[in-house]
Amino acid sequence: MNKDITNKFIPSFDLTGQIRLLQNQLTDCYCKVLSNGSFILDKNVKEFECSISKLCQVDYGIGVASGSDALYLSLIGCGIAPGDEVITTPFTFIATANSITRAGAKPVFVDIDTKTWNINPELIEEKITSKTKAIMPVHLYGCPCKMDSIVSIAKKYKLKIIEDSAQAIGSKYQDKSIGSFGDTGCFSFYPTKNLGAFGDGGMIVTNDSKIAEKLLLLRSNGAKIKYYHDILGFNSRLDELQASILNVKLKYLNQWTVKRRNIAKLYNELLYPRIIDGKLPIQLPIEPENAYHVYHQYTIQAMDRNKLKSYLEQAGIGSTIYYPKPVHLQRAYIQLNYKLCDFPVTERACNEVLSLPMFPELTEDEAIRVANSIISFYAQ
Ligand SMILES: *Cc1c(COP(=O)(O)O)cnc(C)c1O
Repeated sequence: MNKDITNKFIPSFDLTGQIRLLQNQLTDCYCKVLSNGSFILDKNVKEFECSISKLCQVDYGIGVASGSDALYLSLIGCGIAPGDEVITTPFTFIATANSITRAGAKPVFVDIDTKTWNINPELIEEKITSKTKAIMPVHLYGCPCKMDSIVSIAKKYKLKIIEDSAQAIGSKYQDKSIGSFGDTGCFSFYPTKNLGAFGDGGMIVTNDSKIAEKLLLLRSNGAKIKYYHDILGFNSRLDELQASILNVKLKYLNQWTVKRRNIAKLYNELLYPRIIDGKLPIQLPIEPENAYHVYHQYTIQAMDRNKLKSYLEQAGIGSTIYYPKPVHLQRAYIQLNYKLCDFPVTERACNEVLSLPMFPELTEDEAIRVANSIISFYAQ
């Protein structure tokens, strides 16, 4: 093999292939929006809201400024208020907990499952108090949470569910779309997400007409009719340019997801036999029963994670740690008084997880090189 090809750096994530493929269509979007001269909440946003609600098999889609805002507006839309408690996971991007704090409520953490790294439903009930108003599960890495258990707990205690689906667009649990289990489902179109804009963007999906109506007000300064403000609202809108780009990219989402799943399958096939042989002290991601995983990340849990990461870097392979520090131990949350050992599964994951290169354009040869490097690291 040519040495240059062998040593070519494999990034953890790369958008350039996708942009090259869509260059003409995307330039076209830009020109059309410019010539229309309408930039906020017009036909491109409506079309995109309609497509996402269809994809999620729900009645309403409401475009907002970001995934973070989708979570925050959902909480306000569901009536979460200061003094309330919202149950969530400490093993997530901090925006999950921040949305709860921003709503004036208190995030109450529950440790995660060892195999999926998602919130462990068996530990939720013991954290429910008279102040608990909602559960915010996160479908981490694109892997669906155990929604049947979470929905039945929420029903039993009359809690709202706000799904943080930022990493999981297109994923399914028991043949039902992620985002459609909760009172609302929240998506992010941050550029590196499975469906990414060229800037920030978000979407809330819901089947509840009352919540949908409130969200429409909340995103537009509380007004349904311009300059007549019924409630205290915000400015949180998806813009026409981002929506037009997302309309183009959405057509490819399914095939991109299939490619991600094929890469995950290949990683599994290359690594699993070595684990069985006792040669690889790592844990692979799983696709739970009745789940359709969209592999936003392909994440392993590995012994000597930091050394493995450096070794891969030396071999010209990028990898990323999502997340090196759990939310409950972040300085921003010092006031909650959590301490080390409060959530042992989460804390261990923070020390051991590593996300391998994963994006639709990653080639089979590159995936093989990644797997071989992991194998040779542990063979040393
Ligand atoms: C990306 C992400 C968010 C926030 O989305 P933004 O669009 O960046 O505001 C929230 N939760 C999780 C789990 C995410 O990965």
